[in-house]
Order: sequence, then structure tokens, then C-alpha cells
Amino acid sequence: MNRAYNFGAGPAMLPDVVLQQAQEEMLDWHGTGMSVVEVSHRSAAFMELVKKAEQDFRELLSVPDNYKVLFLSGPTRAQFALIPQNLIGKKSSADYIQTGIWSEMAAIEGQKYLTANVIASTKDDAYTTVPQASELNINPDAAFCHYTSNETVNGVEFPYIPDSGDVPLVVDMTSSILSRPVDVSRYGIIYAGAQKNIAPAGLVILIVREDLFDRASAQTPTFGDFAVQLKNESLYYTPSSFSIYIAGLVFQWLKASGGLSAMADINQRKAKKLYDFIDQHDFYQNPVEKSARSLMNVPFTLADDQLDATFVKQADAANLKALKGHRFVGGMRASIYNAMPEAGVDALISFMQDFAAQHG
Ligand SMILES: *Cc1c(COP(=O)(O)O)cnc(C)c1O
Repeated sequence: MNRAYNFGAGPAMLPDVVLQQAQEEMLDWHGTGMSVVEVSHRSAAFMELVKKAEQDFRELLSVPDNYKVLFLSGPTRAQFALIPQNLIGKKSSADYIQTGIWSEMAAIEGQKYLTANVIASTKDDAYTTVPQASELNINPDAAFCHYTSNETVNGVEFPYIPDSGDVPLVVDMTSSILSRPVDVSRYGIIYAGAQKNIAPAGLVILIVREDLFDRASAQTPTFGDFAVQLKNESLYYTPSSFSIYIAGLVFQWLKASGGLSAMADINQRKAKKLYDFIDQHDFYQNPVEKSARSLMNVPFTLADDQLDATFVKQADAANLKALKGHRFVGGMRASIYNAMPEAGVDALISFMQDFAAQHG
């Protein structure tokens, strides 16, 4: 077998032990004689799986009791439309902080349901930084304030949690959730698609403060009404059972690995190695302001972009996969989520060293 180091931004690498367990259980899950994707989502065994996954997730993030956890299906970006509909209440606008392509897209979609006020944007800086906390002027009458904690494409991460006062703070945490501890009590809603740092695509996990379930607009589709999902314990419709199953295994793996503070230490170390290497070599560049650099997604360019295709091809041959940057920003991007072993980062750095020596 030839397991690669997959630096793709999503779908992303999963821990070997998790995939091995899934493989072992595939034909006969917990003595049912069926795989987990064949059993009824309303069977006691599957409902137990969902409950356990939720418990472990809550434990990892120390989710306070006044927050509910929902497992939803579909694309992450469905939330760009569903959150405005669920939170609009009697308000007519929401505030958006723009620091990259995902938060930009969230505001454009939100505008279909309310007045989406972009209260701060770093677009003029080519999304290489985040606004200062003091620059954020949140409208006290906004239904919510939305931001993206880690911009997956641009490699920009907030080093702080914005202070939105009494306005519910909503965060798209898709590409940084579970990479470090988080103070959940600062948020109205945390949401995250699974395919970056949790599980296969198809699952979106929401953490919603319990007072926010009472304000959905009448036009909110039933399947996307958070209160309906809550009442049905995340099983209103047939869920993406395989993703929830893998998520549950990943949560157990994280707990066995020391939880989120242990992950934070490892992630800091992995990212620091890679950024230090890039900063020390003129052949490589990372454009992001140091204080706002992502721990999870490290974009970089080569001194000569004519070499990009060769870099990707040779890296691929060296078992370092999916390093091509997003089509919007070009260059390379190394996504180093929880499941990327430190040895993978070391292998990348050593490859980059050789490549620069050959071509620099
Ligand atoms: C990947 C990503 C999305 C979009 O995910 P889809 O499931 O493809 O809609 C949204 N936000 C962030 C921060 C992402 O990284």
C-alpha cells in the first residue's frame, strides 16, 4: 500500500486509523450484519451513534449546555442562505465581515434574503489580512454578524474573535473547527462543513445558541429550519449517515490524541515549520500578514510561476498530493489539517528544499 500525503483543501486527508476501522466494520457494523450505510437511520443502533458523536463533539469543544448541536446534510454553502432565513426574525439586515472568497460568497447569498451590509473588507489588500478589532463597527440592529474564522482559499485566519456585543455572532468555521480549543460562548452560531477537518463531504455541523431557534422566516424551507431539525434530533430527513459515522470515529481519535489543546500544539508546530521554511527561502513566498496566517491552509508561490506545473507534477510523483493552489489565487496551497501527520509536513519541506536547489 502506498498512502499519500494529501494536501488537498477538501475533501481532505483522514486519519489512517479511522479509515482502517471503517474498513474493518464495513460488512458487519456492530453485529448488525449490515454496513453502517445500510441500516435504518431510525434504528436504535444508528440513533445511538448520532448521540455518541454529539456527546464526543460537545466534549471536545466544551460546548455549554445552552447550545444545541445539529447534524445537517448538504453543501456547507447552503448555510449562506439558511442562516439568514433562520435568524432574520423582525430584523431586515445583517453585517458581514469579508476576509476572503468564502465570506464574500456568504454575503452575496445573504443579500437574497436581507440587506447584507459589508462592514469591513480586506479585498483591497487582496485578502491577505483581517481587519483590526477596533475597525469593526457592528450595527446594533443587525440580525447577526457573520465572519469566516479561517479563509481556506486565501490562507487567512482571524487571530481574535470579533466582539459583536448583543448581536449574535455567526461564524463559518469549516476549515478551522477542531484545530484548537474555542470559546463557544462567544458565538450565536458556529457552523462547519465536514469535508475539511472532520469527515467526508455531505455533513454540516451547527452549534446554535438555544435562544436563536425562534426567529425563522415563514419562507424558510422545512428541511432547513433549525427548529425542525432540533425537534427531530437531526433526523428529520435521511441524514448523510456515512459522514456522521466517520465524524464519530474522528471525534474518538481526537479524544484519544489528547483533545483540542494537544491538536493546537501539533498544528502550531506544523504550521510554524512550514512558514519558517517559506520565509527563509527567497524562492518561496507567502503573501499573508504574519499575524493573520492560517494554521490550516498555507498558500505559497514560487519565484517563477512558469515552474508551477513542474512543481505540482514532481510533488505528486513524490507522493505529496493536491498541492495546486485554488484557481482564484494560483500558486500552491498546502492544507495541513489535523489528520496531516507532522511527517507529511517534513516530507513537503524536504521536497521544497530540493526543488528550490534544483531550480532556484
Ligand atoms: C469549503 C468551504 C465552504 C464550502 O463548502 P461546500 O460544502 O462546497 O459548500 C464554505 N466555507 C468554507 C470556509 C470552506 O472552507
